[in-house]
Amino acid sequence: MTAELIDGKAFGASVRARVAAEVLGLRARGVTPGLAVVLVGEDPASQVYVRSKQRATAEAGMAGFEHRLPAATAEADLLALVARLNADPAVHGILVQLPLPAHLDADLVINAIDPGKDVDGFHVTNVGRLATGQDALVPCTPLGCLMLLRDRLGSLAGADAVVVGRSNIVGKPMAQLLLRDSATVTVAHSRTRDLPAVCRRADILVAAVGRPEMIRGDWIRPGATVIDVGINRVPGEGGPGRLVGDVHFASAVGVAGAITPVPGGVGPMTIACLLANTLAAAARAHGLAAPAGLTA
Ligand code: NDP
Repeated sequence: MTAELIDGKAFGASVRARVAAEVLGLRARGVTPGLAVVLVGEDPASQVYVRSKQRATAEAGMAGFEHRLPAATAEADLLALVARLNADPAVHGILVQLPLPAHLDADLVINAIDPGKDVDGFHVTNVGRLATGQDALVPCTPLGCLMLLRDRLGSLAGADAVVVGRSNIVGKPMAQLLLRDSATVTVAHSRTRDLPAVCRRADILVAAVGRPEMIRGDWIRPGATVIDVGINRVPGEGGPGRLVGDVHFASAVGVAGAITPVPGGVGPMTIACLLANTLAAAARAHGLAAPAGLTA
């Protein structure tokens, strides 16, 4: 048996096209959704992410506002910028690129963002709203995973779902979303006993660990749907290395029913969901409902 490949690149492109169509509708009503991205310091990976977010924003017909601050920026100055963006009616989404330099308190900064503009979904208000089943802006990566799962499986009700990883960015919100869709959810982490046996129970296995190819084919229940969130660069012969997931793809593909590749699986969904969240924030700011199918 060979697993079906879940094509996040194609699905992400379709989400972006739907967002762009909705943006046209909003613009016809005089509203141009705007996303402000704040980058503090010169982390090379963050610079790449910010550039691709800006490009995707423009392609979707949205306004992009970029704020680059030096690594030594004082916390008060960053908070003052966030306050200005909160008050700016042209800005519907605010994203502070993480990680922040060590002298800045990321929780403090994130929680200073207007929750209605918190398109990363990291503000405690959005975390609480998700946990209590209220409309929320949901973190982009798990939202993308949810869209892929719903597209493949339809209803997730009653499915045994195992999420490996409990970060605030991926694992915990992923578990909340699966629970909200009535899966039976187990969250595993570095202290979980007999992780292979826990994984083998899963109809839906989401790997968000950050350890290259840790989850092997013999940890996977035959026919399971496997979502690999991991992005790990491993050394290649003489070259820049290659990207692998947290799942050992070569052994998993013979066991799973469906699996996301790395790259081309979850990655492209993250940016598509950032656009979807910005669109939802802009619609709600103008008293309109967020477009169906593009939110949790
Ligand atoms: P974190 O490092 O914040 O969290 C990793 C989680 O994995 C922790 O909960 C940790 O457990 C758990 N873990 C670590 N080692 C083991 C182990 N040996 N067995 C079981 N659990 C373990 O990572 P993130 O959640 O931020 O990211 C996870 C992966 O997803 C990374 O590869 C990252 O690059 C990728 N990623 C991809 C995105 C995308 O767009 N596709 C976006 C965000 C992340 P504990 O809590 O006990 O320490």
